[in-house]
Amino acid sequence: PLRVRYAPSPTGHLHIGGARTALFDYLLARRHGGAFVVRFEDTDQTRHKESGIEDQLNGLRWLGLEWDESVDIGGPYGPYRQMERLDIYQTHLNQLLQSGHAYPCYCSEADLEQERAEQEARGEMGGYSGKCRHLTPEQIAAFEAEGRKPSTRFLVPADRIIGFEDKVREHVEFESNGIGDFIIARPDGIPTYNFAVIVDDHMMKINLVIRGEEHLSNTPRQILMYEALGMPVPEFAHLALILNQDRKKMSKRDESIIQFIEQYRELGYLPEAVVNFIALLGWSPGGEEEMFTKEELIAQFDLDRVSKSPAVFDMDKLNWMNNAYLKKAPLSRVVDLCVPHLQKAGYIEPQLDEAGQAWVTALIGLNQERMRFAAEIVELSSIFFKEELVIDEEAAAILKEEHVPVVLTSFLGQVEQAESFTVEAIPALLKQVQKDTGYKGKQLFMSIRSALTGQVHGPDLNVSLYLLGKEKVAARLQNLL
Ligand code: GLU
Repeated sequence: PLRVRYAPSPTGHLHIGGARTALFDYLLARRHGGAFVVRFEDTDQTRHKESGIEDQLNGLRWLGLEWDESVDIGGPYGPYRQMERLDIYQTHLNQLLQSGHAYPCYCSEADLEQERAEQEARGEMGGYSGKCRHLTPEQIAAFEAEGRKPSTRFLVPADRIIGFEDKVREHVEFESNGIGDFIIARPDGIPTYNFAVIVDDHMMKINLVIRGEEHLSNTPRQILMYEALGMPVPEFAHLALILNQDRKKMSKRDESIIQFIEQYRELGYLPEAVVNFIALLGWSPGGEEEMFTKEELIAQFDLDRVSKSPAVFDMDKLNWMNNAYLKKAPLSRVVDLCVPHLQKAGYIEPQLDEAGQAWVTALIGLNQERMRFAAEIVELSSIFFKEELVIDEEAAAILKEEHVPVVLTSFLGQVEQAESFTVEAIPALLKQVQKDTGYKGKQLFMSIRSALTGQVHGPDLNVSLYLLGKEKVAARLQNLL
């Protein structure tokens, strides 16, 4: 059975790049009845963040990517956190040392620095020279007497072509001569990424490794270690980069796109829209259809249709897509998403009575079609909360027309004597203005809308008037007149 894993370093929140890897893992695991494992690669303690594990899991959970094995629920091949697996790496490290595939290296940072400088002076490229490959027992004893602690390096064989069939990139080849002997364990015995990852993928019976293209050059190193340990090599699928809107490599500081799943949650995006969008970062099902539920993705997703060329992250498309999902969502769900934003803006109280609930529901319903994400409710509904009315140019022009004072005076009269100012009651008031003044259509509605919202276009007028309420409507009319 297929076994795939998402293996983040717990350095912070779930990033869209990681989310895409996890999603592709998840979709394939579900499609083929396999297992989706989440393993934490925390051996680089300098980059580790304490909340990193929870942050990553929360992101996956919010997206609805349920995992089958991980730190929280365990599984048959745990522990699922590398710092709890140190004895396992040690066993394999000893094996590599004994078979001569690895050796202790006593070079200090300064030694390595000097070596690099010399190489550069000779115009050479390339990694470590292999200087410590053949240390005599006497040399080792001398280093130890100096108190030096060795790191462990993997001995890269010369003149090898390391090739593999990548599920996305097809045939890939590297020359071993371009790879210097690399460190697989630091002096404190803690393994580096390249070594820990192959031990874990083997022990956890991972048979397909999906990850970002930035790891492509690690793969030949990993293949050499699998071979040295007599372990089967899994299949690989390296996903192309995600570019920003300017078609440049995305950097974490790039502000033109929202990069962390947590931010989408906070801004009130719908997880199913984000999943749909991320699925299309590099994958396309063929055909015009772009809207897919998770179930449809599971049924259709295939690495064969994942592109070798970079995907461009189009924020406008994501917003369009999220808007499409919001429009279809039940109003109660949209209300739940919007209310915290209105509270944070200080627009509504934390506790609402029944009338208040109904009012807020109408407010959000009025904007459901327009908002791209829930946080936008604050801006979209500000005219109902701000005391001072901002009148835009178009509306100001309308308000200069001759008939306007007549219409507004008549409407003010209707409002003041109205017993009920509900969405249902308001049309009758407008009808009466029409009867009394003889103005109708645009002349009637545009004047009233401009006077009360400061805009010529906008959502439903009856609902807008109800939301403003009798007092605000009367006050604004008096003000203008
Ligand atoms: N911990 C690595 C990362 O976060 C995982 C790479 C891999 O999937 O092998 O980039």
